[in-house]
Amino acid sequence: MINIAIIGSGPSGCYIADNLAKKIEDVQIDIFDRLPTPFGLARAGVAPDHQGTKRITRQFERTLSRDDVRFIGNVEIGRDIGYQELKASYDIVVFTIGASQDRKLGIAGEESQGVYGSGQFAGWYNGHPDQEQLISHLNGNNVAIIGNGNVALDLVRILSKSSAALQESDIAMQAEQAITKSDIREIYLLGRRGPAEASFTTMELKEISQLEDCCFVIDAQQIPNSLPDGIDPTRIKIVEKNIELLSEMANVTPASEYKTRIHFMFHRTPTQIIADKEGKVAQLKLKPTAATHESDSDEILDVGTVITAIGYRSKSISGLPFDNAKGIIENNDGHVEEHVFTAGWCKRGPQGVIPANRADAMGVAKQIIAEVEQGKFDKQKPGLTSLRDKLDALTTVSFEAWKQIDQAEVSRAVEGKPREKFTNAQQMLEQIK
Ligand code: NAP
Repeated sequence: MINIAIIGSGPSGCYIADNLAKKIEDVQIDIFDRLPTPFGLARAGVAPDHQGTKRITRQFERTLSRDDVRFIGNVEIGRDIGYQELKASYDIVVFTIGASQDRKLGIAGEESQGVYGSGQFAGWYNGHPDQEQLISHLNGNNVAIIGNGNVALDLVRILSKSSAALQESDIAMQAEQAITKSDIREIYLLGRRGPAEASFTTMELKEISQLEDCCFVIDAQQIPNSLPDGIDPTRIKIVEKNIELLSEMANVTPASEYKTRIHFMFHRTPTQIIADKEGKVAQLKLKPTAATHESDSDEILDVGTVITAIGYRSKSISGLPFDNAKGIIENNDGHVEEHVFTAGWCKRGPQGVIPANRADAMGVAKQIIAEVEQGKFDKQKPGLTSLRDKLDALTTVSFEAWKQIDQAEVSRAVEGKPREKFTNAQQMLEQIK
């Protein structure tokens, strides 16, 4: 029997487990997760109104319910079980821990109340236990979102949709109430480069263009007439479509009444967050990054909330090689050290949608399978047996226990919502009989 531990039950972990379980004979795969719930970003990162994307978890459930795969939730590697201990217990260890830490802007005022990273903020509205207490009410009616990726567009959408529009989502109730109450009027979406360099994709931009009760402020002069040099050839089609759509949006005459105004502000970079006497965000100072708009001077936005959507870093684990500059696990194409592998955002950095992570996970699984076939593992490691005492002292969550949490979330949801998530670990554990 070959014993494999996978750390992190998000898409990458589930894809690798599925592939290894199907391809390796006589295998036991244990998937550890620090939360009592599985699925990583598919549960707590994908936007709550993108239920179609979240449906992938049904496939992951089939993997976790296999006889040769075990889900062991509520166990944190690096805290409850050490890296060396894990290596001593398993023939193969695979880290698929994602990138849970928000990157910082590194500007003055970033510690003010009302500044959030997109990981924190999306975790909050997605019911992630780490973020349950993040916000009780949003400060002011105006929000600045920094970054021009799809995460930034997720934030714009969730902040501007009405309760009715979120009715079929699984947004955490407290977050929905706080967002609705805050009556957001102005959203400033800030890109340090131009429309042609924005990394968001057209489908996601289209969703923004179709938001109800919203109007757009886009300086048509900032939209290029032709593609600038240096665009990645694989992105040319997307960029052309983005530009076309932005031009259309710029030309729409705003309705006389609207709830939220969304400003696309390109070629600006934030230089300072200015707080009021209580330490709460009051203003955001910007400077132009290109001479494409009328004034070259700094601008000040009156905002009570600033959300950075500028990427993520992975969390280091004591003893596990870590590339601090890149914020990823140090690896050579997924190979960390003897018998240790990594895949997904903690391997490559926070880039790519679920299908891209599937492809990446398949590549790493292929390497592992090749090494197994070459007989590189002595299959002498005891697996979970050697960790029993430690695990018995913790409250671990099996796949069957997760299904009880899952059922409880589904049954307490109001009509229309697919589930009402529990937002702290204690509540989750209380659902297990
Ligand atoms: P991203 O696409 O890399 O966007 C990050 C943005 O932050 C870029 O616009 C970047 O600008 C900007 N940025 C970085 N550092 C900055 C700084 N110091 N100051 C100002 N701006 C800064 O990443 P993401 O939006 O976090 O998304 C991560 C991945 O998940 C992407 O592959 C995305 O497509 C995917 N995703 C997909 C969906 C969906 O399909 N619906 C939803 C969410 C996420 P520069 O380009 O100038 O560096």
